[in-house]
Amino acid sequence: MRLSLIRNRLLAAVAVSMVFAAPGAFAEDDHDTKEAWRLFIADHTNPVVRAIDFQSGEELGRYDVKGAAALTASASGQTVFATQSDDDIVHVLKTGINFSDHGDHRDLEVSDVGLLPVTFEGKRPFHVVPHDDHAILFYDRGGKADIIDEAALLEGKAEVKTVDTTKPHHGVAVTMGRHVLVSVPNTDIETKPDELPPRIGLRVIDESGEQVGEMATCTDLHGEATSARLVAFGCKEGVLIARPGGIEGPKLEMLTYPSDLPKGYTGTLLGGKAMQFFLGNYGEDKVVLIDPDSEEHFKLVELPTRRVDFLLDPATPRSAYILTEDGDLHVLDIIKGEIVRKATVTEPYSKDGHWRDPRPRLAVADGHIAITDPRHALVRILDADSLEEVRTIAVEGQPFSIVAVGGSGASH
Ligand code: ZN
Ligand code: ZN
Repeated sequence: MRLSLIRNRLLAAVAVSMVFAAPGAFAEDDHDTKEAWRLFIADHTNPVVRAIDFQSGEELGRYDVKGAAALTASASGQTVFATQSDDDIVHVLKTGINFSDHGDHRDLEVSDVGLLPVTFEGKRPFHVVPHDDHAILFYDRGGKADIIDEAALLEGKAEVKTVDTTKPHHGVAVTMGRHVLVSVPNTDIETKPDELPPRIGLRVIDESGEQVGEMATCTDLHGEATSARLVAFGCKEGVLIARPGGIEGPKLEMLTYPSDLPKGYTGTLLGGKAMQFFLGNYGEDKVVLIDPDSEEHFKLVELPTRRVDFLLDPATPRSAYILTEDGDLHVLDIIKGEIVRKATVTEPYSKDGHWRDPRPRLAVADGHIAITDPRHALVRILDADSLEEVRTIAVEGQPFSIVAVGGSGASH
């Protein structure tokens, strides 16, 4: 399949950034340019989150939390959520990286990292979805999701709007304008006390918490991502796309997997930032590029072995990085729809064994890829172009979940 629309959109994006490059260059004449990147790393087992200066590798802070944490950066990059699913609590870190829009350029203000005084407690918090000026935290066993205001958090306050999720389930909630898209559990079946019911679909709720329209079928809904103004969800039968629909609320459309695809489905999704597209897994050893606005929606890419982690490069929109269990890192060219480079970056990390066993995770910072290597107590830093390891950062314990926050801006 030709991802013709993606290609057109990328070209448009390149043209736009070229137009804006000139004022940016002028801005540097009368402003100092500041650049800062920080890594946030959680341990696989120990209740600790570390903040590390990307350039120097120096530890900026070490924060004790309650349990093993999964990290999610907010959309603005000003906060990082440390979700401790087994311990029913979420801590939030202030990253000390704050970009503000100054019209023709952006400013960067750098301050100390810190643990914010607010925590969120509820039964089995799991998926956190960052969106604009807020994040939505879903409590699998709590039967609710919290929409958390980031500005209030940074002032040390919790400003939360709670959404009812009908019944405990391993779900997700995403805001779209004044509406919220929420997964729907199967409430007809009996589940054992230690199990949660499967998901069967997605519903739209309005500001007053009322459901709008019918539930859209999405069997085993798992994985969500936002790209441009669209939100995608992974389902057994296809990828469900939500589009803003004005006052009537979001419109839901199922992109069914075409019959020429092998058996498989999507359960994890990433959304393009500068271009509108989604990248999803398709089973364990394939990925799919999803273009909701083209005639052919899916482009399948086969991997040599099973995928351990994957990530889009926000600064280089046509690159996605896919780490497979043989320790190889693959660069997927989004426009071509093919793997264009690969290199061996860690020893093999098999996907056999427990799903929670320590395995590497990826982040992108300043033209580099950062990979946690829990067996070697390291973060490996690779050049994103050559895929060569340029240095390592030693991190005590088993470094696991990682996010990178930063960039450059004016300072004046
Ligand atoms: Zn400025
Ligand atoms: Zn999940």
